Amino acid sequence: MLELNDEAIAELRKIDQFDFDIFKLRRATRDNELVTIVPYVLARHGLIGACAIELNCLFNFVKTLQSGYKNITYHNKTHAADVCQTFNYFATNGGIKDVTKMDNMETMSCLIAASMHDYEHPGVNNMFLVNISDSMAVKYNDRSVLENHHIAASFSVMYSDPQCNWTRKMSRDEFKRVRHMIIETVLTTDMTKHFLELGLLSSRLENENFNPADSKDKELLIKIMFHLSDISNPVKDWRLCKLWTELLFVEFFAQGDMEKMHGLEVSQLCCRTTTNVAKTQIGFIDFIITPSFNTAIRVFPKIAHVRDNCEKNKEHWAGLFDEYQKEQDSGNKFLHIVDQYIMKETKASRRSTLTQGEKKSKQPQQRNVNLTGHQRRTSKNLGGQDEGVKVDLVLRMEDSESSQR
Ligand code: AMP
Ligand code: MG
Ligand code: ZN
Repeated sequence: MLELNDEAIAELRKIDQFDFDIFKLRRATRDNELVTIVPYVLARHGLIGACAIELNCLFNFVKTLQSGYKNITYHNKTHAADVCQTFNYFATNGGIKDVTKMDNMETMSCLIAASMHDYEHPGVNNMFLVNISDSMAVKYNDRSVLENHHIAASFSVMYSDPQCNWTRKMSRDEFKRVRHMIIETVLTTDMTKHFLELGLLSSRLENENFNPADSKDKELLIKIMFHLSDISNPVKDWRLCKLWTELLFVEFFAQGDMEKMHGLEVSQLCCRTTTNVAKTQIGFIDFIITPSFNTAIRVFPKIAHVRDNCEKNKEHWAGLFDEYQKEQDSGNKFLHIVDQYIMKETKASRRSTLTQGEKKSKQPQQRNVNLTGHQRRTSKNLGGQDEGVKVDLVLRMEDSESSQR
């Protein structure tokens, strides 16, 4: 069972909407958005029973993943939860399920894959890991290093603890299908595969025997829609689009700083003194987002509305060139974002060391939500994230702040 307060329940009611705000769910669940959304969305589609999932094990599994996501600005548990919700939207109201006849096992695999897809992301990209000969790059021979790690490390969580093995009631064949689907979808999130996969789809669309419900075409479509869920921030409402973009660039610029420190060539979009964020977004939308969503819309016309947001967002970015030029001129510090999305969280986790008495009076009413359909008296206490979890990025930001004082 999930313990949810009224605020969280109100947010979860909007789960099938495109303008769902994952940051509100994060606040409402006191930083348990991932371990809340995954079981909730599966239960909503009746997938817990239909796919023979061990619910307690799923909770344990996602909770372990949730705490393995680092407290960095973009590749964190909130992004994983956001991808889960966005894919859920595309699958339901977006029409993927109807058009591809995606079955229960496939839907469930994708929703859980979202929770795994950036697990233990270090906040730097594949190229950086390869360039510094990081042990992860050595392990995966420089190929889709992060994506391989997210999958392998997530499956290790499941294999190393029977209490996290939510697949244990499945048959061998069912498990094989689930594992295949998770591996395929997460590997497709490697941006270097973007043009290859989109090209494959475009040529399949020209072929008269294209059949979205046929196994090969269906898998290609599901993989692409999973990848598009991962890069969907430019087609969300402006407020969410802008926020996610700035959170991403905090990570990009931190990577650029490290590249300078290591004497490496600074990656594209990662130099804080030469990058106008608003201009990059026009390029990203024109070159990546618009062509890929246009292709997807040919198969899934119900998502055609994303074009409106995309156009509006482009106009917003175009109107902000001067503002972001000023940010660039002052070194793209983005301290407003850091203050709001890292410092406060750190302060919040410090605040959570309140005495029990204080805690009681401040906590909102909790309600138990039964996901299994069975009456149970015990409830799963989701708890908060481990206190004091701080990673390099936060420390670096704190360092650079204090050195400026
Ligand atoms: P992931 O790292 O798994 O979330 O894969 C998505 C990748 O797409 C990110 O790492 C970025 O490289 C890229 N991306 C997503 N959104 C944007 C954006 N708004 N601007 C530029 N690159 C983006
Ligand atoms: Mg990734
Ligand atoms: Zn991602």
